[in-house]
Amino acid sequence: MRTAVQIGDTCLHRGCIPSKAMPHAAELVDGIAEARERWGVKATLDSVDWPAPVATRDDIVTRDDRGVEAHLAHAGVRVVRGSARLTGRRTVQVEASGPERPSGASGLVARRGIVLATGSRPRMLPGLVPDGRRVVTSDDALFAPGLPASVLVLGGGAIGVEYASFHRSTGAEVTVVEAADRLVPLEDGVRARVRTARGDTRTVEGFVVPRDRARLETAVPGIHVVGDLLPPPSLGLAHASFAEGLLVAETPAGLPSAPVDYATVPRVTYSSPQTLPWG
Ligand SMILES: Cc1cc2nc3c(=O)[nH]c(=O)nc-3n(C[C@H](O)[C@H](O)[C@H](O)COP(=O)(O)OP(=O)(O)OC[C@H]3O[C@@H](n4cnc5c(N)ncnc54)[C@H](O)[C@@H]3O)c2cc1C
Repeated sequence: MRTAVQIGDTCLHRGCIPSKAMPHAAELVDGIAEARERWGVKATLDSVDWPAPVATRDDIVTRDDRGVEAHLAHAGVRVVRGSARLTGRRTVQVEASGPERPSGASGLVARRGIVLATGSRPRMLPGLVPDGRRVVTSDDALFAPGLPASVLVLGGGAIGVEYASFHRSTGAEVTVVEAADRLVPLEDGVRARVRTARGDTRTVEGFVVPRDRARLETAVPGIHVVGDLLPPPSLGLAHASFAEGLLVAETPAGLPSAPVDYATVPRVTYSSPQTLPWG
């Protein structure tokens, strides 16, 4: 189902939307067990016809994908499909991909500014190479051809416990390995810091740190950063990214805008610690 260049990438195609569609199917399964055991509803569950929820999930994603493309077209946004590289304060080089290869797309000049929103990707542990079959990232897990009988989830953060809950509901034996002393360790505002060889501490690498945190502007005036590319206190959540996008769009447009107040951004971890055993 994945194509090389997808608008609305992580959230729409391999994050929020598809990953929440599957737990809904699992929730229905759990509901049948609960109905029988706690509420006296004499329901039985034969099996889950796996291709059916997969088709429903893909249908939801396809419809949302078309919706996003339509919104962009309606708003007059030009979409250039390809891999971009910053070549200057106002210039970008694009290696175009896909069937549409618009002329003049390879060198783009920004009149007002540039927004960096290149997101994030799954990180592997040293020595562990995903093979797409037995060792999989969250991306692969979502598109697995069937349901595994047992699962070892490395990392008990929001995504880890979400996958753990889902697989447990579908009958798998599930083990979660978490380095911190409890699951979802970031949920109460604890921030991970690392100590370098020189003895100084810093937050985890790999982000673009804005010099002006209120306007999300980098050290280069006119180049802004939003989404998963931002370090904490940004949250790595789609709706927080959306608010950041609004901020960097509204500020240069002269519209009234306020810094994103992360303490007020609602967030949820989708899991069912109370899930009843299968059967
Ligand atoms: C399994 C999973 C479940 C999640 N569930 C939720 C949830 O329930 N709720 C929630 O709020 N968040 C959820 N998230 C997080 C959410 O998906 C991300 O916070 C959000 O998608 C970040 O958006 P972004 O625009 O920063 O990055 P992305 O959505 O990753 O988009 C970045 C885009 O930039 C493109 N790109 C990268 N480099 C280049 C380049 N050089 N040139 C051109 N394009 C480039 C990528 O191809 C991609 O299309 C989930 C994430 C995962 C993995």
